[in-house]
This record gives sequence, C-alpha cells and structure tokens, in this order.
Amino acid sequence: MTAELISVGTEILMGNIVNTNAAYIAEQLVRLGISVYHQETVGDNPERLYETLECATNRADLVIVTGGLGPTQDDLTKETAAKVCGKGMHEDAKAKQMLIDYFDQLGRGWETITDNNWKQVIVPDDSTVFYNYNGTAPGMVIPAENGSKIILLPGPPGELVPMWETSVVPYLSNLNNKVFYSKTVKIDSMGESGVETAILDLIETQTNPTIAPYAKPGEVHLRVIAQADTFAEGEALVMPVVEELKRRFGNCVFTTEEEVTMEEAFVDLLHKYRLTFSTAESCTGGLLAGRLINVAGVSDCYNEGFITYANEAKMKYLGVSAETLEEHGAVSAECAKEMAEGLINATGADVAIVTAGLAGPGGGTATKKPGLVFIGCCVKGHTTVMRYQLTGNREKVRNGAVVRAIAQTRHCILEQFA
Ligand code: ATP
Repeated sequence: MTAELISVGTEILMGNIVNTNAAYIAEQLVRLGISVYHQETVGDNPERLYETLECATNRADLVIVTGGLGPTQDDLTKETAAKVCGKGMHEDAKAKQMLIDYFDQLGRGWETITDNNWKQVIVPDDSTVFYNYNGTAPGMVIPAENGSKIILLPGPPGELVPMWETSVVPYLSNLNNKVFYSKTVKIDSMGESGVETAILDLIETQTNPTIAPYAKPGEVHLRVIAQADTFAEGEALVMPVVEELKRRFGNCVFTTEEEVTMEEAFVDLLHKYRLTFSTAESCTGGLLAGRLINVAGVSDCYNEGFITYANEAKMKYLGVSAETLEEHGAVSAECAKEMAEGLINATGADVAIVTAGLAGPGGGTATKKPGLVFIGCCVKGHTTVMRYQLTGNREKVRNGAVVRAIAQTRHCILEQFA
C-alpha cells in the first residue's frame, strides 16, 4: 500500500510552525509497513489544494491530509476533498451531538455555538467519520472514484495523535483485513551504516516482514513489521527475524519494545541485578542524571549525583588528585578513572558513571579538540574508561555524551553479570 501526506496551512508553508504532524504520520506509516512516496505542504488555498489532491489520489492508495478542518473561513480541506471525490455533503448526527455536548461541557451552552462551528459537523457522503474526543472537528475517510482514499485529520497535534491511535490505526488494519505486527530492535554503540551493513542480506531479501532502519542520536532502531491475517501469524513472521537481529547485534540490543527507551532499559537492568548507581558529571552538567531520573522507578537504584564542573569540585567531592589534573588535565582518561573510583568511595554505590569532556565550541587545544569526551564507569570494582570524539554543537556533544555514558555502562554491567 502506498501513501502520500498533504499538510494544509499557510502558517506551515511560511515557516511559522514546524510540521510535526508530517513527521509523526510518516513515522507511523513506516511502522505499519505503508510506503510513503510523496509529502507536500499547501497553503489555505482551495484551487491549489484541489490540484494537489487530484494528483495525489491518482498516484497513491491513501492520501492523508492534516489541517484545515476547523470552523473558520480558510478551513476548506473537507469541501475541497469532497469535490475531488465527487461527493455531496450531509450533516452527521453523532458529530452534531458531540459538538453540542462539547459546548455544554465548557459551560457555554449549545445555543452559543456560532454558525461557522456547525460547518464542522457536515461531512462528505459515503465517508467514514473519526469522531474527535479532544476537539470539535471530526476526521474522516472519503473514498475517491478511482479506489484511492483521502483521510482527513485535524491539524492540532493534541487532536491528531489520539485520533490516529484510536481510529486511524484500526481503520488501516481493517482496510485489507490484515493486522500489522511489529517489533523494534533498538541498538546502541553502533552507527546507522554499520548496522545496515551487518544486515544487508536481510534487507535485500525482505518481503514480509520488512525491516526499516531509523537512526536517533546514539541509537539505531530496526523496525520489523509483518502484515498477516492474525496477530499470532504476524508474531510468527516477525519473531524469527527479531531473534536473528539479537544474535547479530548481541549486547548492543537494549530492547525490542517500541515504547522502551534507552534509559528505561538501563534502569530495568539495574533493577534486574539489584544494583545501585551514582553519577558525577562535568561536561554533561546534570543532563545524564536528568535523563535517568525521567524513568519512573529509578529511585530504587539511584543514590546521588554530583556536578563536578571545576577542578576543585573534582578534588573536593571525588578525591581526584591535583597531580592528575596538573599532568593530564580534567579531560583525560586518568581524571575520568579517578572520578569514577572516587564516586564509588563517596557514595558506596555499586555502579558509578562519570563524564569529563570538552563540550565546545571553544576550549580546544592541539591535542584535545572540542567534542572530546571521556566516560568512566565503575561496576562492582571494575573501572572502564572510553574516549569519544563527538561532533556537533555544544548541545549535541552533551547529549551525545549522555547516550554514550548510558550505553557504555550498560555494556559493562552485562559483561560482568549476564
Ligand atoms: P482547528 O479546528 O484548530 O482550526 P484545523 O484542523 O483547522 O484545526 P489548522 O487550523 O490547520 O487545523 O491548524 C490549527 C493548529 O494546529 C495550528 O495553528 C497549529 O498549531 C497546529 N497544526 C496544524 N497543522 C500542523 C502540522 N502539520 N504540524 C504541527 N502542528 C500543526
């Protein structure tokens, strides 16, 4: 099945808002195994939208349109899509009742509904309506004469995302009486090209399931998706591929669940082996602790954290020696090692994670370029320090150091315990 995305709105066209809906839907479609061939943005102009819709319905099985469903004059998406599909319009009784209830709940009373609001409950003939539980404009599917389908969704992400999850995904699954079954193999410590090279043979021969790579900072995700008649069949198609990926990538796989993040997988591992941890951060300045503390349940294993930015702080709280700082500098393997071991002494945790680096853009020397980061971890008495030369601006270097710190420590724990 092929799809095209059309984002409607002059404010997107002019760069006033970022088109997060297109990114969200495109990613969702990949997850469902639906190929996206074109994306387009059109302003609030019915003639240009008509042309775009006509062209898209002639090329794709599904045309997904966001925005322009609201009550105002410039919201003409529905009327234009109905015209492209050759459909008349009628009032939808349930949408009308929901609009009345919505205004009642707001305490305004339905009699305050302005005329333009009623426009939202008019839908094209033969359409399947997706009711909106988070706003007033319903979404819908309009069948085009050539068999293509136009799916209209509201622009505000707070309305679009829940409608996608509760109405569009089931609709797409039912469309060809198939279910989609997917697993996401998430990999750390490897780049996208290395991951792809390791599975080229699988990618080249894939049909059902398909494997879609997706890179995030410090992680590569491989989404394995199968279409099948039942979930059990889908699972039977997907799981052998997942097992093969786990075999190929070993400890680099930190989860196979879509919703599990790197930091959640890390905290799960600490819980599994009943380990406590502490952090001491120089260049990441609390980002590492912040990311880990985002995980619910981390309080069972997180002891304490230091931001030891100045040399004095490294000496005072972690016992880093003045000689080490003098001889090797704060951004050095020697300093990271003393920080990690000093952190264990200071906190009594089972696991210590420390960062020391040059976040940049200034501060580099002939031998130490901005982006140079040393990450130390000490796991039950075994200290490992790794050197990373990261690229990008200050924010990117600091975030890059955080994901590498989590990944490196996870690997060290697995090497000792698994
Ligand atoms: P409304 O009922 O609010 O008028 P609508 O379906 O008509 O909804 P628009 O008027 O096109 O949608 O957009 C409403 C708001 O939704 C925009 O101001 C913007 O904040 C957000 N929005 C619209 N399209 C997008 C998009 N593609 N990505 C992110 N946000 C969007």
